[in-house]
Amino acid sequence: MGKEQIVVVGAGVAGLTAAYLLLKKGYGVTVLEREKAVGGLARSYRYDKYTFDIGPHRFHTDRKDVMDFIKFVLNKDALVISRMSSVYMFDKYHIWPLRPRTLIRLPFTVLLRAGIDLFTRPSFKGESFKNYILSKYGKTLYEVFFKQYTEKFTFISGANLHYSWASASVDRAVIDKKLKMNSLFDTLKVTLMPKPVNTKFLYPKHGCDIFAIKLANLIKEEGGHIITNVKNVLVKKNGKKIDSISFNGKNIKIDKLIWTASIKTISEQLGLDSPKLNYLDTLIFNVEINRDLGNPNQWVYFGDKNIIFNRTSIPKNFSPYLVPKGKDSICVEVTCRDKELWDMPAMIMPRVLKDLIKTKMCKRNDIGKVHVEKVRETYPIYSITYPGQLKKANENLKTFANLYCTGRTGAFYYNNMDNSIEMIFDLIKQFPEVKG
Ligand SMILES: Cc1cc2nc3c(=O)[nH]c(=O)nc-3n(C[C@H](O)[C@H](O)[C@H](O)COP(=O)(O)OP(=O)(O)OC[C@H]3O[C@@H](n4cnc5c(N)ncnc54)[C@H](O)[C@@H]3O)c2cc1C
Repeated sequence: MGKEQIVVVGAGVAGLTAAYLLLKKGYGVTVLEREKAVGGLARSYRYDKYTFDIGPHRFHTDRKDVMDFIKFVLNKDALVISRMSSVYMFDKYHIWPLRPRTLIRLPFTVLLRAGIDLFTRPSFKGESFKNYILSKYGKTLYEVFFKQYTEKFTFISGANLHYSWASASVDRAVIDKKLKMNSLFDTLKVTLMPKPVNTKFLYPKHGCDIFAIKLANLIKEEGGHIITNVKNVLVKKNGKKIDSISFNGKNIKIDKLIWTASIKTISEQLGLDSPKLNYLDTLIFNVEINRDLGNPNQWVYFGDKNIIFNRTSIPKNFSPYLVPKGKDSICVEVTCRDKELWDMPAMIMPRVLKDLIKTKMCKRNDIGKVHVEKVRETYPIYSITYPGQLKKANENLKTFANLYCTGRTGAFYYNNMDNSIEMIFDLIKQFPEVKG
C-alpha cells in the first residue's frame, strides 16, 4: 500500500507548516495554491530592487516551540527588530500605543473628556463592538479614534460589529502583550509607566515571504509537492468523506484534506448551508520613493475618515535590504468591499497620492513608480452575527471526518502568523506517525 495522501489547500504560513510536519510524519503531501507565489497573506512583492510585504508583518510569539520553529526555518535570515508605530489624529502623528508625549499633544478638550470618561464609562451590555469599546475606553476615545477607524476599515457600524473584533484588532495593533492597552485604565497605566517596554520581533532580512519560501524548499527536500497558480480547486465528497479534489482540469483521490482557504468556499463546495461569513479584501498601493524619508515609523494608522487609506508602512524600517540604498518606499493599505473599485483600483490612485502628500508622508516629487496589488480575504469580518454562523459552519464541516479547516482564513480567525503555526502544531499532533 502506498503512503496516505494528504492535500493541503493554501500555501500560506498554516498550509506550509502543516505540509512540512505531515511529511516529517511520513505522509505524502501535495499543496495547492491559487496565487503564483507561496506565503498567503505573509507573501511579499518584488519589483526590481524594492520589496514590499502586505502591510506590516513581523514575527512575535510567547510560545517557545513556535519561536524555535520560526528560527529553524529562517535560520540566519532573521533580523531582531523593535517596534515603532504611530497614529495620525488631529492632523498630527502620535506615537502608538499612546505614551505620555502623545497624551500631552492631544487637544486639551479631548484629553479632559477622556479623563472624565474614566469615571463615567457605561458597563458592557450586549455583544457589539461599540458597547465594548465604550465600556473600556469611554465615549471620547471611541468617537475620536475607534469609531472612525473601524467603520472606515470594515464598512460596518460599530453597533453591527461583534465585540471580539475589538480584542482581535486592538490586540493585533498592540501585539506586544507586555504593553497592556486593553482599556482606558490600562492605557493610562502604561502611559504613566516610567520605562517603555521594548519587546523584540523577528523579521526575515529580505522580506516576510522568505519564511514561506524557505519552508517551501524544506517541503520539497522532504519529497512534498507544491503546485502554485492552481485554477478551479473543487473538492468532491462521497457521502460524509472527502473523496477527491480537482484542479487545473485534473482530479486526484485523497485520504485527507487540510483546508486553509475560505470557510465559505469549502462549505459551498460540499453543498452545506453557505454561512454568512465574509472577508474584507485589501488594495495595496506599493509606492517607490526617490529619497530617504527619514521617517522612523514601521507603520502608521489613519483613523480620519477623510484620509482614504487605513494604514501605511515603511518597509525600510523592517529591514534596510528592502529598498535600494538612499531610497525609501511606502506600502499603503485600503480595505475594499466594492466590486467596481476592486475591478478598477487605479481610479483611487490620485486620491491615495494626494492623501500621502496631505498627511506629509512624502512630497509629490518623492514619488516614483506605484504598483497596485489586490489581496483577497485579508480579514474575516466579525459581524455581530458571526459567532452563531461560525459555530453552525464548523458543526456542518466537522461531519466530514477527513477534513480539517484551519489557519486564519480556513478557521475564520483574525490571527497572527504565530497563531496559525500554533494551530497547526496542535492539529498535527492528532496525526499518528506512519513512518517505518
Ligand atoms: C495587512 C496585514 C498585516 C499583518 N501583520 C502581521 C504581523 O505583523 N505579524 C503577524 O504575525 N501576522 C500578521 N498578519 C497576519 C498574518 O498574515 C496571518 O496570520 C497569516 O499569514 C495567516 O496564514 P494562513 O496560512 O493561516 O492563512 P492565509 O495566509 O490566508 O493562507 C490561505 C492560503 O490559501 C490560498 N487560497 C485561497 N483560496 C484558494 C483556493 N480556492 N485554491 C487554492 N488556494 C487558495 C490563499 O491564496 C493563501 O495562500 C497580518 C495580516 C494582514 C492582512
